[in-house]
Amino acid sequence: MGPEEFCKRTVDAGTITAKKLLTAFSIRPPAFLDGLDDDNYFPLLSLALSRELRKRAKLTKYNTMEDAVHLLHTARNIIVLTGAGISTSLGIPDFRSKGTGLYAQYEHLGLNDPQEIFDINIFKQDPNIFYSVARDILPNTERFSPTHAFIALLQQKGKLLTNYSQNIDNIEAKAGILPEKLVQCHGSFATATCVKCKHQVKGETLFPDIKAGKIPRCKKCAEGRKSAGNSRKRKVNKDGTERKVRRRPGDYDSNSDSEFDLPTSCGVMKPDITFFGEALPDEFSKRLTEIDCKLVDLVIVIGTSLKVAPVSEVVPFLPANIPQIYISRTPVSHVNFDIDLLGDCDIVVSELCRRAGWNLDHEMVPKGQVVDVATVEGYESRHVFTQTYPDPSTPPVSNEASSSGSDGEKANGGDSLKRTRRSAGATVVDKAGK
Ligand SMILES: [Zn+2]
Repeated sequence: MGPEEFCKRTVDAGTITAKKLLTAFSIRPPAFLDGLDDDNYFPLLSLALSRELRKRAKLTKYNTMEDAVHLLHTARNIIVLTGAGISTSLGIPDFRSKGTGLYAQYEHLGLNDPQEIFDINIFKQDPNIFYSVARDILPNTERFSPTHAFIALLQQKGKLLTNYSQNIDNIEAKAGILPEKLVQCHGSFATATCVKCKHQVKGETLFPDIKAGKIPRCKKCAEGRKSAGNSRKRKVNKDGTERKVRRRPGDYDSNSDSEFDLPTSCGVMKPDITFFGEALPDEFSKRLTEIDCKLVDLVIVIGTSLKVAPVSEVVPFLPANIPQIYISRTPVSHVNFDIDLLGDCDIVVSELCRRAGWNLDHEMVPKGQVVDVATVEGYESRHVFTQTYPDPSTPPVSNEASSSGSDGEKANGGDSLKRTRRSAGATVVDKAGK
């Protein structure tokens, strides 16, 4: 009936309050609206309605593996959306999502919410919190997964329109995905910027400091400081330590004589990953809304549950008639994909390539690999991938892949934590070695 008529028959007719109607859209009215007039709930209701209306209906003509392969063969402008799931086989933990158990190891930081690690205001107050975690999430591998190789293969075949990645590990670049084909929606460690003077450097110049547990400081700020500092005599105590002198704001604050030790008043360098509270890279929405949405002819979502903005906003934005394939361990319910390919994404893409007659040459795809594809009962468009050779008794992900979604992301995240911690930087052989 459309939103106007719907509102006419509900809130306008006085048959139900906006507050109560919100619950029909699974929205729990926030506490700060408690006790206010019902009008105050209208903006939220409007949001709920538009979200519901934007939800895309599944295209009924795409269901089978053959359909998926056919789409791969015919598509010329594929948007690939990727998340942490495509890097976990390399031992890179999924840090962004809540409830994976990964944050548990940072309890000692005393955060109210683990996302505070990536909160820009907290970073500005105390960069120690981020930097005590940063060394663990530093991209430290030259390797890339078969799934990265699959995206590079799409590019090589002239089929890749854009890879929108949620990942900050910059592994896409290592797999050969061209900068013009890649949008890192949350930024990456590839570059870093001084929070004070905005001086930008290559991200890897920070890595030694990060690995040593130091807070990287801005060299540009330091140069300015140094020339100011040299013109002033330092006052030294009898024991050789520098005496506190009256300071102007932002003055030299170091108690070390080493010129390589940058003073703490110099700006802190921050990797150009997008923190909570920071604007997203401009490139993201511009490219999506002005170019890509007009060209795209196939969407493949890999290794993300699509719950974190902005990637979560990409799919609802694209034309609803464009086919969408979902590759992940567990299905999602908040987006209607046309075909769900469930399992370890490295296994799914290698089987897809095999069926497409494409050669996905990668050292983590075992020689003679055999993958079983089973259609889930009652869901003709949902297929579960299990590697049956080599080592069918302990396939790396058979437990998760075959349980198609019943146990959700928590269990998977916890399991992948155990595995990735044990086998950081390991090959598929280690992956199987539970
Ligand atoms: Zn600076």
